[in-house]
Amino acid sequence: MGAEDTLPPPDNRRILRQRKGELPIPRYCVWELTLRCDQRCITCGSRGGRPRARELGTNESLKLVRELRGLGVGEITLIGGEIYLRDDFLLLIRAVREAGMACTVVTGGLNLTYEWCEAMVEAGVNSVSVSIDGMEAEHDELHGLKGCWKRAFETLDRLGRAGSKVAVNTQINDRTKGSLEELLERLSRTPVRAWQLQLTCPVGGAADRPEVLLQPHMYIDLYASLDRVADRCHELGIAIWPADNLGYFGPIEAKLRKLQTRGAHFKGCWAGTAGIGVQADGVIKGCASLGLEANGAGKWPEKSLREIWESAPEIVYFRERTRDDLWGYCAECYYAEVCLAGCTAMSESLLGRPGNNPFCYHRALEIDRMGLRERFERVEDAPGLPNDHGLYRVIREHKDPALRAENGPVAIEQPRTSRAVDPTGIGTPVVGG
Ligand code: SF4
Ligand code: SF4
Repeated sequence: MGAEDTLPPPDNRRILRQRKGELPIPRYCVWELTLRCDQRCITCGSRGGRPRARELGTNESLKLVRELRGLGVGEITLIGGEIYLRDDFLLLIRAVREAGMACTVVTGGLNLTYEWCEAMVEAGVNSVSVSIDGMEAEHDELHGLKGCWKRAFETLDRLGRAGSKVAVNTQINDRTKGSLEELLERLSRTPVRAWQLQLTCPVGGAADRPEVLLQPHMYIDLYASLDRVADRCHELGIAIWPADNLGYFGPIEAKLRKLQTRGAHFKGCWAGTAGIGVQADGVIKGCASLGLEANGAGKWPEKSLREIWESAPEIVYFRERTRDDLWGYCAECYYAEVCLAGCTAMSESLLGRPGNNPFCYHRALEIDRMGLRERFERVEDAPGLPNDHGLYRVIREHKDPALRAENGPVAIEQPRTSRAVDPTGIGTPVVGG
């Protein structure tokens, strides 16, 4: 998962394994309880702030908890917006636990009181992850509010005192990439025991801020830093938890994913196979991080959850795609079969069509070895709606600034606009710009 797969899996997630040949079971659900939010983060993928037009009420939500369990879900992560802005968030945490599922929570923590921390623990929450994006200056800039970094750290202490398991999730982008090690040292003096790292996805607010996004050629330095971060996390006893959008392969893959895959490699996107996403208005997606336009698979309760899961084309797509659906660099990759171009949310929101992902360490390394680098630039703005995206193109060029200036781009990968085969060929890489 992306922004939302914040914590190591709880034990009960393993009891719901599927048998070979059976329809996949969505073991893990990310559920946006409300889009209402008390922060205005500039990179918020769902452009949180005001609630969605018609968010599910308490009784509907309690019913949906039961349906998710009936479908086989073993863990639900509740996200926002900000979940504590709903009067019934404690009731829903308790309902998830009483239905036999693990319940984790992601919060900005700005106004999370000690009483609420205690009440969440009493309701059975398994862990709470607070979003902290870099050190004070960059966090306050990204979250659009001076002082909110300090308040997030106060929330960590409150959660610890209340007896909660505490985690932090951090977006890696151009602003935060240089301060990960400093942030880790600061976190080591808090109750935090798990740290999820994820790339800022070019969806929603982040689609409007190309200058904040991490460019592929920055991956080389980033992974050198992550190598040190992983070692230091191990020393400090903090579980490092890279999100699905932070990859893939390369020399430190096993170290980074040690806790997730027991030292094995990235196993591919699990949208629509092991994962399911719920929007506050009942729209179901294969993963909560996916853009809405191509991924809204139907609205619950207008359709039953089982019907959507078993037959909505937007979800079945994930089970049927193969390496033949890949394009551009990923189509020729050694890891294509198992990776299938990594995180669908990242590639789709950047290039319009999934299956070609420049946010990849293996790719950045290979291109670097050729004396080249990649960057992307925006060619179409996002419309400005929750979970929307714009379109970008990827430019491959010389690493050497003099060669770059003399020769211009070596290749350009243009965006594609849908998952269907593009009859215009507009997505074909153009050699020589
Ligand atoms: S789109 Fe796939 S890889 Fe990306 S966060 Fe969702 S489940 Fe994970
Ligand atoms: S180049 Fe594409 S298919 Fe290959 S490892 Fe990277 S994301 Fe996966």
